[in-house]
Amino acid sequence: VKDLRTVIVHLDRRTAEAMPVDGGIREASVGGAAVNLALIERHGREAIVFGAGPLTGTLAPASALLIGSFRPGAASGPAAQAAPSQSIRHVPLLVTAGPDFRCSGIDHLVILGTAERPTLLHLDGGRVLFVDPPPQPDGMSLRTSLRRTAPPFRSAILTGKSADAGAAFASVSIDAKGSLDKVNLAGAMAAKNLRGLLLGGTGGVAFAADDLRRSLEIAGKVKTLRKKGLGFDPFVRAAGGGDSLKSLKGARIQEAACFHCPAPCMAHARFAWSDPRRPQGEKREESVLLMDHSGWIALAQRRPGTALPLLAESIRLGLDPVAVASLLPAVGEGGLSFDIDLLAALAQGTGPSQSGSSMVAALIFGGSPILAGTGDESRRRAALALVLGLCPIFLQRFPETAGDLAAFHPDIPTASLDRAAEGILARG
Ligand code: SF4
Repeated sequence: VKDLRTVIVHLDRRTAEAMPVDGGIREASVGGAAVNLALIERHGREAIVFGAGPLTGTLAPASALLIGSFRPGAASGPAAQAAPSQSIRHVPLLVTAGPDFRCSGIDHLVILGTAERPTLLHLDGGRVLFVDPPPQPDGMSLRTSLRRTAPPFRSAILTGKSADAGAAFASVSIDAKGSLDKVNLAGAMAAKNLRGLLLGGTGGVAFAADDLRRSLEIAGKVKTLRKKGLGFDPFVRAAGGGDSLKSLKGARIQEAACFHCPAPCMAHARFAWSDPRRPQGEKREESVLLMDHSGWIALAQRRPGTALPLLAESIRLGLDPVAVASLLPAVGEGGLSFDIDLLAALAQGTGPSQSGSSMVAALIFGGSPILAGTGDESRRRAALALVLGLCPIFLQRFPETAGDLAAFHPDIPTASLDRAAEGILARG
């Protein structure tokens, strides 16, 4: 049984210590979200645990996943409050978060206590450094400011203004690109005075001699399947958002993928818009990553003409775009200026509220119905991806590749994986 590199952080004492995870947890839980769950059970329900799976950062396809797990509390908003009190939520963090976390020399990070003042954690070489948030000159993002002042980092997982203000629909942002956090992981971090993780990522992840060949074979298989139409546009259409593609008219679109994913399902959009807050509505160029498909579809259905700037503004403020879309009035009579003001109010925790009932369906997978899929088999597949450290969207899109994955983890028996996945589903 390979040792898991686990670090326990006490924010109140500003201490961090490496703790061996006993073989019992490892054997019973295998990895990823299942080990996160076991660590929350061991260290108490106030713990937030970030964890990678055994395949995170390896040459397995779509091995981009880091998982943030926590038990929703009072600060978690209506969607999370509607969940059973013992439920544990697992928020999938993609793009480069998983490999950079693992290359920082840590498999699981357990965060306990509450910091006396706002704090960030810088991880690298298996070590944790406590970093004070730097001053933010007007208009400068926290990330830009950190780039200038903090030790070097490859990726950052940051809370935003919304989480700081205790807003109910706060969402973490990976490198200022947004995320799939729909259950207020950002709020749970903010309640601990934790502003974010900075991932140094200067280490590496071991792989077996045959993994590169296996990886190329799977990429070839996926290429054939993608020819049948499995990129950003077809994926959005399949998710019921075909109309949303019209809202991209005039934008420059480029498909985008997470770390080591052979099948981009995201898109990068560059667009120009008139910002009503600027003198004479001066035009500005902007770009946004369409990572959160359900957020994009919801905003484009609500505001077809202004979905791109509203998405960019939601991400900037650290708000979940699905919640934003549901809170915008059905008829946008006040125009973009009114909508932007409403987003600002939401980010301050003073906007309209919303019942959680419409949002609880797929909370276990960070609140995204796209990740959860439909039916028992797709829920099981998503849970398996969270155990292994692979992107659940990839496994939902290409279930044909599931059988090829076993070769990347020859030491993990199938029965153990099934048990670990079942454990996650049982605590959803
Ligand atoms: S399937 Fe999409 S979300 Fe998943 S790893 Fe690939 S590009 Fe990222």
